[in-house]
Amino acid sequence: MIEGVSPSTRALVDSSALQHNLRQARQQAPDSRVMAVIKANAYGHGLVRVARVLEDADALAVARVKEGIVLRNAGITTRIVVLQGFLDRDELDAYLNFQLEPVIHGFHQLRLLATCSYLDKLHLWMKLDTGMNRLGFRQPDWNAVHEWVGHYRDKWAGLTWMTHLANADDLADAATIKQINLFNDFTSNQIEPTSIANSAGVLSWKQSHADWIRPGLMLYGVSPFTDRTASELGLHPAMTLQSRLVSCQQLQPGDSVGYGGDWVCHQSMRLGVVAIGYGDGYPRSIQAGTFVVIHGIPVPIIGRVSMDMLTVDLTASPEACEGDEVILWGNQLPIETLAKSSSTIPYTLLCGITRRVGIVDVPQVDANSESKKQIVVER
Ligand SMILES: *Cc1c(COP(=O)(O)O)cnc(C)c1O
Repeated sequence: MIEGVSPSTRALVDSSALQHNLRQARQQAPDSRVMAVIKANAYGHGLVRVARVLEDADALAVARVKEGIVLRNAGITTRIVVLQGFLDRDELDAYLNFQLEPVIHGFHQLRLLATCSYLDKLHLWMKLDTGMNRLGFRQPDWNAVHEWVGHYRDKWAGLTWMTHLANADDLADAATIKQINLFNDFTSNQIEPTSIANSAGVLSWKQSHADWIRPGLMLYGVSPFTDRTASELGLHPAMTLQSRLVSCQQLQPGDSVGYGGDWVCHQSMRLGVVAIGYGDGYPRSIQAGTFVVIHGIPVPIIGRVSMDMLTVDLTASPEACEGDEVILWGNQLPIETLAKSSSTIPYTLLCGITRRVGIVDVPQVDANSESKKQIVVER
């Protein structure tokens, strides 16, 4: 981003909303510690900035070693768990050098740990597969894991047992209780702490709270459920995706709009061109009648979303003109709604925001300052 040039397309991130959502997670599970999941550039909100805002969390979680190193190089001192663990000796060394905590999910990792000279410096997150069938030791191997742990117990700096829920967003699915029971049956014979819950678990499955919760999506103020909104869950959306009108045109009946020309104007109307497209991460496949918000008024998108722009019908907002702000999602327009009308989930929309969209801090209301100036920071 070029300093002094206000980007027309940007993601406003509200730190007080992030902090509020972290408090909500703590309130849901008052006896648990919180690992705040900030993988994938903190779900599009900016890895380092979110780590700084959520430094009160008991730990942070990222997916890959590289993300952990970025955080340490930025001066983050909170505990950092790396959910994919390590593959080889070089990666394992990085856990020592950058004080990262690996998730252990396979025998290749146990073999490396058994021969490393600094096991006593490592905190291990031992992952059991209870039905997700992605990462983790599968049930027939649990005896072997039990033996390994018995042999090395207390030779490490710490160990926590964990598993991951596959269907916790479906409140009617009995698979979740099965996963929790399977995990508890095994870990009740172990002395170490435990961790099960993602956001859906935190919000709807008390039985999954255990010693550590691992909320991701809810921290960003987004509902993990298709039938419950963020506001029903007491969450505040942290991101507003914003752009501006770069052109307004008067169309006549018969005029077609955009690539392919599938949208044809039936009566004289005003068209607005918004500076955002799939090159920014706005979804290209949206249902007809998907809205954006201008001056608080929903206006429908018409024609195809192109790389850098999309077009809207300004009939409902006749005052709108070039330079006006357009909201693509956020407080006034839940991202969950857009996810539905583009047949996807909020996770992909958030992670799909591209690098050219600047992330900007929402100015916090400060009693000592009237300044509304927004501070633009590099991603
Ligand atoms: C991503 C992830 C989470 C967080 O999931 P949300 O649904 O975003 O709350 C928790 N645990 C693990 C292992 C994950 O990969």
